Amino acid sequence: MGAQDEADIVIVGGGFFGCCLALFLRSVVARVVVIEAAPDIMSRASRVNQARVHTGYHYPRNMLTAVKSMVLHKRFMRDFPEAIITDLCSLYAVAHRNSKVSEQRFFRMFHEIGADITPASPGDQALFDPNQVAGVYECSEYAFDYAILQRQLMSRMDALGMDLRLNTTVQNVSEESQTCVVTLSDGREIRAGTVFNVTYAHVNQVLCEDAFMSVPLKHEIAEIVLVEPPEELTGKAVTLMDGPFFSMLPYPARDLYSLTHVRYTPHLNWRETPGTPPPYDILKNYDGDSKAPLMIADAKRYMPCLAGLKVKDTLFDVKTVLVKNERDDGRPILFHRAQGDSRVISVLGGKIDNIYDLFELVRTTDPCWAEADARHVIGSP
Ligand SMILES: Cc1cc2nc3c(=O)[nH]c(=O)nc-3n(C[C@H](O)[C@H](O)[C@H](O)COP(=O)(O)OP(=O)(O)OC[C@H]3O[C@@H](n4cnc5c(N)ncnc54)[C@H](O)[C@@H]3O)c2cc1C
Repeated sequence: MGAQDEADIVIVGGGFFGCCLALFLRSVVARVVVIEAAPDIMSRASRVNQARVHTGYHYPRNMLTAVKSMVLHKRFMRDFPEAIITDLCSLYAVAHRNSKVSEQRFFRMFHEIGADITPASPGDQALFDPNQVAGVYECSEYAFDYAILQRQLMSRMDALGMDLRLNTTVQNVSEESQTCVVTLSDGREIRAGTVFNVTYAHVNQVLCEDAFMSVPLKHEIAEIVLVEPPEELTGKAVTLMDGPFFSMLPYPARDLYSLTHVRYTPHLNWRETPGTPPPYDILKNYDGDSKAPLMIADAKRYMPCLAGLKVKDTLFDVKTVLVKNERDDGRPILFHRAQGDSRVISVLGGKIDNIYDLFELVRTTDPCWAEADARHVIGSP
C-alpha cells in the first residue's frame, strides 16, 4: 500500500464543475482536495466547447432546459462578469427545410415565455439566403472566455491554499465501511469522507466495476473549428435552427470564432458499456481528418459571406450526454450515487450554468453542507 493522506472531501476532476464545487464546499468543509489528471485545470470540456452562455433559444424542443437556461444564465453572468462577452448581436435563423421547428413556432415559443426576441434588422436578414432561411431573429445570447474563468478559479483556489494536485490521475475509488479510498497514479491513497467524481467523459472510468453508473451515456468525438470571422459578422453570432445545421460564435479566449455543425462536428459516437475503452483513449487513437471544409461548404449555402472563411485551428475533445436526452436535446445535470447510501457521488454537467443546480443538490444531500455558499466561487471576501 502507498502513502496515505486524509481529507473530508476529494473532488476528482479539475474542470469548471470540479473547481467550482471545491470552492463551494470549502465554505463549510476544511479539507477539500482536488485531483486533476492534466497539467492545468479546465483543459478538457471546459476549454473545448462553443463558449455559448445558453439563454434558452438553443432548446426549442426542450421547454424545461430552455426556461432553466433563461433563469440560470443571469446568475452566471452576475457571478463571472469579467468572463462574459455581452456586446453581441445573436442571430437565430430557422431553415426552410429539415428544421425540427418551424419559424412561427420558434418565435412564438420564446416570445410567449418572455424571452428577448425580435425579427432581425433588414441588414442582418440580408446576410442569409432567403431561399434557404425562413426567418431570422435577434436574441440575447452571450459568449464566455474559458481562459478568464480558468485564471479566476485558479487564483481563488490558491488564495484558500486549496490542496490541488495536477498531473495526478485517480485510478480507482472504492468504499470501505464509512470511508472512501482514492488510489492515485503517484502511488498515494487518500481516505476521505466523500468523493465527488466530476470527470465528465470519464465519469464511469474512475469507479470500481460494481459502481459503474447504471445511467447510459453517449460519447462523441467532437471537432470545433476556430476561424477568423468575415467582417460582416463582427460583433455577431449566428445559429441556424433546428437540425443538421451550423453555429458560429465568438471564442473569446483565442479572439477567434468557433464554427460547429450538427452533422460534421461529431466524428464518432458510441454508447458506453462496461468494458468499452476509456473515452480519452478512443480520442487519442483517433486520426480522422478535420471536417472544416464540409462545415464551410454547407454553411455558405445559408450565408454566402462564409464562403472565404479562414480556418485557424481545430479543437477535438469528447462530448458526453445522457442517452435519455439524445432525442429531446435536454441538458439536465446528473447527480448519481452508486447505491442509496454511497459516499461516492458522480456528477455530469450538461452545460456550464448547470453549476447552480449542482450547488442546490449538494446543499440538500448532507446536513453538514446545507449552509454552503458560493462566496469563494465568485471571489467575494
Ligand atoms: C464540444 C462541446 C461543446 C460544448 N458547448 C457548450 C456551450 O457552448 N455552452 C455550455 O454551457 N456548455 C457546453 N458544453 C458543455 C460544457 O463544456 C460542459 O458541461 C462542462 O465543461 C463540463 O465541465 P466539467 O468540469 O464537468 O468537465 P471537464 O472540463 O471535462 O473536466 C473534467 C476533468 O476531469 C479530469 N479527469 C478525468 N479523469 C480523471 C481521473 N481519473 N483523475 C483525475 N482527473 C480526471 C479531466 O482531465 C478534466 O479536466 C460543450 C461540451 C463540449 C464537449
